[in-house]
Amino acid sequence: MARYTEAQCRLCRREGMKLYLKGDRCYSGKCAIDRKGYAPGMHGQGRRQKVSEYGTQLREKQKTRRVYGVLEKQFRNYFEKAERQQGITGENLLRLLERRLDNVVYRTGLGSSRVEARQLVRHGHFTVNGRKVNIPSFLTRLGDVIEVREKSKESPRLKELMDRAADRTPPPWLEYEPDQARGRIVALPARDQIDVPVKEHLIVELYSR
Ligand code: SF4
Repeated sequence: MARYTEAQCRLCRREGMKLYLKGDRCYSGKCAIDRKGYAPGMHGQGRRQKVSEYGTQLREKQKTRRVYGVLEKQFRNYFEKAERQQGITGENLLRLLERRLDNVVYRTGLGSSRVEARQLVRHGHFTVNGRKVNIPSFLTRLGDVIEVREKSKESPRLKELMDRAADRTPPPWLEYEPDQARGRIVALPARDQIDVPVKEHLIVELYSR
C-alpha cells in the first residue's frame, strides 16, 4: 500500500508545528522544529505571506493527513464516509482516523509514533479479536480487542514498548492491560478525547467548495 516516504521533519516544518512523527526524537533536542522552526526549502526563511482562506483550509487538511500518515485519496474516502454518517462530519472524520489499527496501537503506547506503530502492524505483530491483522488502515470497532501476538512478545523492541506502555495512560476510550499487552476499545472516541490540534471544520469547508 502506498505511503509517504520523504523526510518526516520537513512535514512538521511545513506545518510550522510538531506533528510527532518520529517518536523519541520529537521530545529531544534534535527535533527539527526546535532547531529550524521555519518552513523548508529555499524561501523558508523569507517574509511570511498573507495566507488566503483556501490556503488556511488546505493547510489544516494537509496537517491532519500528515499526523495520521494518510495519502490524499484515502483521506478523501474517509471524508466521504464521515459525510454519510450521522452527526458532525468533521468529528466523524477524526473518529474514523482514530479507529485505524495503527493509531489504536500507537494510542496504547505500543509504538513510539504512528509511523512505528504502522510498521509493527505491517510486520504482523498484532491480532484483533484473536486473528492476525497486518493492515494499518484496518478500521477497529467498539469492543474490539487488540493484542500483541504471543510470539511477538519475545521481540526485544516489542518488550521495550510493552514496558513503556505499562507506564502510559491510554485515552479514556481505550482500556489497556499491560500484563497481557492487550487493548480493548470501550467507547468510540469523543472529540475532546482526540488531542490532535486541528480545526476539522476547515477541512469540511475545503471539501465543500
Ligand atoms: Fe516533527 Fe518529530 Fe521531526 Fe520534531 S523530530 S520535526 S516533532 S517529526
